[in-house]
Order: sequence, then structure tokens, then C-alpha cells
Amino acid sequence: MAELETNLTEIFEEATRRNPGELEFHQAVHEVLESLGPVVAKHPEYTDGEVVRRLLEPERQIIFRVPWTDDSGRVQLNRGFRVEFNSALGPYKGGLRFHPSVYLGIVKFLGFEQIFKNSLTGLPIGGGKGGSDFDPKGKSDDEVMRFCQSFMTELYRHIGEYTDVPAGDIGVGGREIGYLFGQYKRITNRYESGVLTGKGLTWGGSQVRPEATGYGAVFFVDEMLKTSGDSFEGKRVVVSGSGNVAIYAIEKVHQLGGTVVACSDSDGFVVDEAGIDLDLLKQIKNGHRGRVSEYANARGASVTYTEGGSIWDVKCDIALPCATQNELDEKAAQHLIENGCLVVAEGANMPTTPEAIHLLTAAGVRFAPGKAANAGGVATSALEMQQNASRDSWSFEYTEQRLAEIMRSIHDRCLETADEYGAPGDYVLGANISGFTRVADSMLALGLI
Ligand code: GLU
Repeated sequence: MAELETNLTEIFEEATRRNPGELEFHQAVHEVLESLGPVVAKHPEYTDGEVVRRLLEPERQIIFRVPWTDDSGRVQLNRGFRVEFNSALGPYKGGLRFHPSVYLGIVKFLGFEQIFKNSLTGLPIGGGKGGSDFDPKGKSDDEVMRFCQSFMTELYRHIGEYTDVPAGDIGVGGREIGYLFGQYKRITNRYESGVLTGKGLTWGGSQVRPEATGYGAVFFVDEMLKTSGDSFEGKRVVVSGSGNVAIYAIEKVHQLGGTVVACSDSDGFVVDEAGIDLDLLKQIKNGHRGRVSEYANARGASVTYTEGGSIWDVKCDIALPCATQNELDEKAAQHLIENGCLVVAEGANMPTTPEAIHLLTAAGVRFAPGKAANAGGVATSALEMQQNASRDSWSFEYTEQRLAEIMRSIHDRCLETADEYGAPGDYVLGANISGFTRVADSMLALGLI
């Protein structure tokens, strides 16, 4: 890990001591602190007000028991989390992740990232995140419903349209949001649409929300390419993952004239030189939550499936990691560099390890961090909240245009900040400083919160 300025080293050490064993949280904090040296040097009020130290301590952390019964009538037990990290800019906002790997360190890294990401959107949303170690894989619809109902039976007392507004993340999509919203409505007797985002279109959801994270990441890369007069036209792209973010990233790359030749899941990856057949992929993933190996079987001999292995061995101009944290390590970065990759943009949260980021940027690969590149999802959630507050619903075209404008402004904000701090083209520094200053200034204005 790169060196920090002295006072930031102390703050980092304090954070690791206060949050033992939460490795992903430590990683996310270090990555932000690496950028903050020049900004705290320029603004003594941040040090005087202990803004950085306060920012590292969540405003509230909720951990709760989630008992539910499986289809055979047996009682199962999971742990639920909601970390309400920072509300200086608006109600806590961020998704829920249901995955066996979820523990406090994962929820806190995600919540911490969310503060800066949400700030970068320029919209009035604070940062939070939640989830459970529940694994939806292999569960029946009824089991997922009973789990969601139990989860919300505790969570409902902590959330609200002006308090905390959860949404989806890995393992939480429209189905889960539906069961969660249904239970919230039942317990509170309020049709409070603005309490959750990622809702279905007939019950308060927004157009473009399912597509938003993937589309937004591709809009962001398009802006990066434009700065050197380039475009997606004719580009060879690799997208890891095959969930919601990956699917809509692939869709937008194809719309903009690029070709996505590979995608993956936790078992392996497929390479389809003709370009991923998105209708088939959607049918497999959305239809019956199938695996990418089925995609290869259905497409026949022209497509290869590799079990295990690394998708980053596949030659590409643009790499979009859209699966999960720390999926792109030093070795993968080395392969991307050797294969002439031009741009890496994070559709997932923190998919690139710190060592890989340093390697890529040192080799001149342009790198967009998730808190900027994947902010389209939460930005569209904020647009969903706007529509709910005004009891209105916007067209697909209008909502997509708003998303594209937001991604452009995030991109420009990152570059302007990087220029201002003497690091032109450094999207990591630009995103961290620009996200930080908006929150820090608001925290100072609000007094000791
Ligand atoms: N889980 C998404 C993210 O990482 C979206 C959160 C939201 O819409 O609130 O930003």
C-alpha cells in the first residue's frame, strides 16, 4: 500500500484498531486517505474539525437476528446489517447485499464507498449500506420471501423516506425489493414509496433503474474516450460478471458500437468472438438464474467456456470489472497491460486491488474507480426518490438522458478536481477529493454531528 501523510497515517491506524479484522473496510479507507493529503493540507479547517476521523466512524450500525423457516419447516438463522454511515448530504442511501460473504467489514467498506459515490452524483443523498449473509442461490421463491419478511420485520423501524432508503446490490433485485416493500407496507400501513428504490414499474419504480449501473458505467467510459477524440466504435470489451450490472453494461457497449467478447460468473467465463448474445444471456440469467456455462452449451462450438481461470487473460481494449470486490488483482492487471488494454472502469464496488490499480495507472492504462464509474445506479435511485416525492413517473428516454447528464457531470468533476490538485487524468484522486469536499463542507456547516 502507498504511503500516507503523517496525520493521515495516525488516523488510518486508529481506524484499523477500532475496527479489527474488517479488511475490506481498511482497504477502502486507505484508498481514500491516499488521495486526501493535498486537500487536508490546503484546508486546515478539516483537521481542526476532525472531519476525516469523524467520517470514518459510522453514525449508526445496526446488527440483528434474522430467523426464518425453510421449505421443510426447519428454522434457519442469518445475520442482518444496516450501517448508517453519513447523513450530512441527505438520508442514508445505499443497497442491501445478500451473499454468504457478508459480514460487518464488507458492509462498512460498501457504506464508506457509498458516501463518496453519492456525494459525487451531486444529489441530496447520504451514505449507507446493509445486507445479510443469507444466500439466495438455490432457495425457493417462498424461502426468499420469508427471509425478506423477517429481515424487514427488524429493519422497518430504522428506515424511512427521510431517514434511510435501501435498494438492491448483489443478491437483491426486483424480487427481493418487492417482498421487502410488501412487508414494510404491511407493518407500517403506509404506502411510502420513497422508503426503498429499485421497485417495479407498477408499484413506484423508475424507468432505467435496472439498467442504470451498467449503462452509467459505459456512459462514463464514453466520456473518458471522448477526451481523446475516441469512442466505443470497434472496441473489444471484456465485462466480468453476468448479473444486473454486467448485463446492462454489455447492452450499452453494443448500442455504442463496441463488442463485448467475454463475461463470467463465479464458476468460469465464456468467450464469444461474435459478441455476447444478450438475448440468450438474459434468458438464462433473468429467466431461471442459470450459469454462463449454459450460455456456452447453447451457443455451440464457436464459444469457449473456461471453468475457473481468469477472464482478464482475454485480450481487450476496455475492461469492465462488474462482478465483485478484489476480482482484478496484480497478475490480472499485468495481463491486461501486456494485452494492450487502454481503459479499466469499475462497474462493481472495489473490484480492483490497490496493487493492481497502481500497476495499471503506472503503465498508462486509464482507470475509473467504482465510486465514480458505477454511480449511475444510486443516481437513478435518487431520481426514483424524486419521482416518488412528486408522485410522478418519467419516460425511459427522459430518465436515461438525466442519467447520461449525471455521468457526464461526475466525469467532468473528477477531471476538474484532478487538474486543480495537479494530477491531470487521475480519476481516483479526482473522485476521492471531489466526493470528500462536498461531504466535509456539509459536516462542518452542520456542527458536531
Ligand atoms: N448497490 C448500488 C451501489 O452500489 C446502488 C445503491 C442504491 O441504489 O441505493 O451503488
